[in-house]
Amino acid sequence: VALAVADYASPLRLSLDAAALVSNWRWLAKESGEASCGAAIKADGYGLGAKAVLTHLTKAGCRDFFVATWAEAKALGDLPKGVSLSVLHGVREEDMAVALSMPHRPVLNSLPQVKRWLQTGRNFDLMIDTGMCRLGVNIADIWSNKFEGMPIHTVMSHLASADENSEQNVSQRVLLQGQILKLKAQRYSLANSAGILLGPDYHFDLTRPGIALYGGVPREEAKGHIAQVVYPEAQILQRRLLIKGQPIGYNAIHIADRHTEVAILNIGYADGILRAFSKKGSANNGQFPFLGRVSMDLIAIDVSSNPELEEGDWVTIDYNLSAASCKTGLSPYELLTGLGPRFDRVWINAV
Ligand SMILES: *Cc1c(COP(=O)(O)O)cnc(C)c1O
Repeated sequence: VALAVADYASPLRLSLDAAALVSNWRWLAKESGEASCGAAIKADGYGLGAKAVLTHLTKAGCRDFFVATWAEAKALGDLPKGVSLSVLHGVREEDMAVALSMPHRPVLNSLPQVKRWLQTGRNFDLMIDTGMCRLGVNIADIWSNKFEGMPIHTVMSHLASADENSEQNVSQRVLLQGQILKLKAQRYSLANSAGILLGPDYHFDLTRPGIALYGGVPREEAKGHIAQVVYPEAQILQRRLLIKGQPIGYNAIHIADRHTEVAILNIGYADGILRAFSKKGSANNGQFPFLGRVSMDLIAIDVSSNPELEEGDWVTIDYNLSAASCKTGLSPYELLTGLGPRFDRVWINAV
């Protein structure tokens, strides 16, 4: 008899706090002032699950969503009425058939992309490069090409250093501002999460937060306003007593300096809890420090402070993004987008 995978509970899960997600969006929407507040849900909603994030945020009033690719757009299926989705990487030739099968707008990044999409007669968003030098049409090309009369919905640009108090922010804002008369569109948009906190000059008509929705604190100003959304949890697979002097794990990088009660967890770097957490990570609010090296599928923790724990019990990996980022050197973005497919993703606190 084949195992019905849907009925099979994984030994690891992500508890995802819907109320925290919605509260983060509401705070960012308030900070966005007069501008509409959208949501970046690329990379499967930064690892949480894009479809569920879209559903929760649509209920809260969010109407503008952003994915990177047409595969991500397709995976979302049909969207609720009044919801708009933009595809940040524009259109390659290979994307045209799938792009035309859906009502979403590409964010066109280059003159060849503009040329390709114009044949469809459909509207589009336009990314212009104001100094990040990654994606976007160069300002010089805006001036020398005739964009008048094109069905441009939203003109956007992307800040490179919004998490710092950098002169680059000012120069990018001024460059976008300068395009408004030249490049007619329904809306203009510049700010990501950090950009929202640079103030009203940066808001234009639409903001595009990502990381702060999911619990990342992009700038000091957000401290105390952004709630943790993602809680990785794992089940204890085995309990053992480590005798003083015994090593544990690959390369024996930890040797017990006392008798130590140990629990082996069903989680590892293949799930996104990377080796950078070796000797640094912990579970249950610091109560259970990681021991030795993180393995592909397993992590050992010191449970001497609670020897009652048994096989089958669950613990919560400490995953406050700011704290985990400080400890490991991984960015909050990497901490979220690396969380793998073996987790059951379970939404709690639905609003
Ligand atoms: C990812 C992305 C965002 C969101 O950025 P955060 O730093 O996660 O808030 C906004 N705009 C564009 C173009 C992006 O690629």
